[in-house]
Amino acid sequence: MDIDYDRGIVLRDEQRKLLLDPTHQSDIGIVTHGHLDHLVKDAYMTPHTLDILGVRLGERRGKPVPYGEKVSVGGFDDITLLPAGHVFGSAMIRVDGVLYTGDFNTSGGLTCGKAEAQKCETLIMETTYGKRKYRLPPKEQVEEDLRIWTETQMDEGPVVFGGYEFGKAQEIIAILNSMGEKPYVPEKIARICDIYGNHDVDLKYLTGEPQGDYTAVVTPGELKKPLSGLARRARKERGNIAYLSGWCAFYPFFRTMDIDAQFPLSDHAGFDELMDFVRACAPERVLTVHGSAVEFCQAVRDELGIDAQPLKK
Ligand SMILES: [Zn+2]
Repeated sequence: MDIDYDRGIVLRDEQRKLLLDPTHQSDIGIVTHGHLDHLVKDAYMTPHTLDILGVRLGERRGKPVPYGEKVSVGGFDDITLLPAGHVFGSAMIRVDGVLYTGDFNTSGGLTCGKAEAQKCETLIMETTYGKRKYRLPPKEQVEEDLRIWTETQMDEGPVVFGGYEFGKAQEIIAILNSMGEKPYVPEKIARICDIYGNHDVDLKYLTGEPQGDYTAVVTPGELKKPLSGLARRARKERGNIAYLSGWCAFYPFFRTMDIDAQFPLSDHAGFDELMDFVRACAPERVLTVHGSAVEFCQAVRDELGIDAQPLKK
């Protein structure tokens, strides 16, 4: 089987052709998750991702494949989607001896399960945090810090969190729900949250004008200087505002955002988790896409002695 990159990851031999995360509409494609840089219509995807596609692209067009069920696409008969732990509905793809992780996280999340290593011959993986310096703190530690900070700040006024509208926002809502808090969210986030309930991920949130003491979860755009939406309102009420992203572990966002705190809540695996994942999958070769693809391959060759090449630099 040949593997290369051409507007998506292409798996093919003489008779068969399959596209993983194609960048164009395709009926022989498989989409791993509902972030906008991955979503295309007509492809195969988990039922969760198909519902997300319906809301984000305005038309629910594609073929649902539940986790763990075998499906045939493009002449390949032995394809299975497995939880990737990145966002709600995100999937790794196993086909013959190949495992493609898509965006993934072995620490997982409250709203999406977690990625488990699978023995394979060829491991195709994303390497967003593929440089040695991209080491993330343990997720439980970040969540604990976040809870403590929230409890302290709530004594002073409203508390607002900013995170990407699909995936991160819902993780924050789940963390706040675990503290007994029901945050306010803008319509854009609520429309996505509504889908989670249809797949047994119960999120509690409110829309409309905040009343009394409150918490809120907004998009990162509302935190940019000058503040807008619920973040602007909370600031006028002496509220506190935090931004959440894995990149917060490495870069300060205080210059561009009007925030009081930032927390490295990531939906990707950090460098250490990426290396652990390769070890556990024990592949004969590694192919990388996205982020620090070249640097990570160097680390895999040096530290694990496994053949590793970037598929897409
Ligand atoms: Zn993603």
